[in-house]
Amino acid sequence: MTQVIGHLINGEMIHTNKSNAERTQDVFNPATGEVTKQVALASKQTVEQAISSAEAAFPAWRKTPPLKRARVMFRFKELLEQNSDKICRLIGEEHGKISHDAAGELQRGIENVEYACGAPELLKGEHSKNVGPNIDSWSEFQPLGVVAGITPFNFPAMVPMWMFPLAIVCGNTFILKPSERDPSSTLFIAQLLKEAGLPDGVMNVVNGDKEAVDTLLSDNRIKAVSFVGSTPIAEYIYATANANGKRCQALGGAKNHAIVMPDADMDNTVNQLLGAAFGSSGERCMALSVAVTVGDEAGDALVAKMTEGMKGLSVGEHTNANNDFGPVITKAHQEKVNGFIASAAQQGATLVVDGRNPVVKGFENGYFVGATLIDHVTADMASYQAEIFGPVLQVIRVKTMQEAMQLINDHEYGNGTCIFTRDGEAARYFSDNIQVGMVGINVPLPVPVAYHSFGGWKRSLFGDLHAYGPDGVRFYTKRKTITQRWPSSGIREGVSFAFPS
Ligand code: NAD
Repeated sequence: MTQVIGHLINGEMIHTNKSNAERTQDVFNPATGEVTKQVALASKQTVEQAISSAEAAFPAWRKTPPLKRARVMFRFKELLEQNSDKICRLIGEEHGKISHDAAGELQRGIENVEYACGAPELLKGEHSKNVGPNIDSWSEFQPLGVVAGITPFNFPAMVPMWMFPLAIVCGNTFILKPSERDPSSTLFIAQLLKEAGLPDGVMNVVNGDKEAVDTLLSDNRIKAVSFVGSTPIAEYIYATANANGKRCQALGGAKNHAIVMPDADMDNTVNQLLGAAFGSSGERCMALSVAVTVGDEAGDALVAKMTEGMKGLSVGEHTNANNDFGPVITKAHQEKVNGFIASAAQQGATLVVDGRNPVVKGFENGYFVGATLIDHVTADMASYQAEIFGPVLQVIRVKTMQEAMQLINDHEYGNGTCIFTRDGEAARYFSDNIQVGMVGINVPLPVPVAYHSFGGWKRSLFGDLHAYGPDGVRFYTKRKTITQRWPSSGIREGVSFAFPS
């Protein structure tokens, strides 16, 4: 019988077989096209059960000293490391990510756990003595209550760990709704928290679809929602959460450009672009999907060297570490990516390397798209305007750096960008003026480390605070400022109707 991936509520797994799950959906191995498991889709009642469990766990967890909360995270980090092979295998089986890429994702997730281990320091607050005669004032950061996270398929281990470790050490209880396309690694990771000593109910996982998400968005007991996914859904989540009085941060899609200046080290640039454009089949929100070359010489050199470099790339199944990247997530997504490649050619771009329908021996039914290079792309093309989310690098040729920057600034997304150059002045001008949230200088994937925060600008992020790091602590806490006077010296003050100063 096909395994059913259930929900983790109050420390127990429920709905783990066909007979007790309400609705289910197929989970595929994208390398073979086969259905390997089913995932339970939580009903409103199941989500409400999870919220009740998180609500019941909150008062005791809120009072647990931050140092004790951090100790759970220390043990959790060790368990993640001990179980890394299993986690990477689960990611590979459902997402298709090659084992070395999955290990990188897990490592970046663990770094967020390490940051959360600093809870006592992060929650110390601010203190001012003698703000007035015998008066002291301090600000403390209190947990919000029950908070929720809704996550995408492309980083099933890392993106959830952008959220729950920090939310939990800040004293909140958590409900995670992972992607229904590859939920197993996420669920397994959450189960490790119990082994690490987390009290039941502090962390809950509900698998599901829109019904589960809408229940989280409408229930008054949920105080804040963190979302990562595509822009149309991010916008919907942000608007609905706000309308229901919740704090919300909703991270969306991207179109990340690299400017290639005429003075760039072209061999190095090509090596960086190969990994950043095609790694994880381009299914990264920070994938570099557009190279903007300044001057025809840079354009010609880049296209020639990329074409050469792409000859050595290998697309295939996740267990073979010699493969560079795996399949895309679904058949429908494979067709969508292929459609964008076709449309670019139809609209007049040059298909330099066409990766459609690669032959992957033994995996003929997998959802593979090979590395694709498209030259002479223009801003009016559908393939340029949309986020393709596949192993496709498009080249736009411009004459000046100003023109390149204008192109980036005009794009609806503003997640990541980078410049390849040897000119420090140009790089400094670029980083200062570009309208994008995360910027690389000769660094193709400028994903901030765990002790900074992650977030794009424009339609790549709805909300005020970025994910994880210092912004994460602010997002998962509310500030309370206390002002106290102890007139212990016996001083008595007279009545005053003036505003205190
Ligand atoms: P998605 O928007 O389809 O799904 C994300 C989550 O939203 C899932 O949990 C899904 O179940 C839920 N969802 C989907 N449709 C919904 C609906 N109609 N109502 C309520 N909930 C719904 O995204 P995806 O395809 O899983 O992930 C890829 C997208 O995520 C890309 O656009 C990528 O750029 C983006 N992403 C962004 C970041 C970032 O940090 N900005 C990081 C990773 C991925």
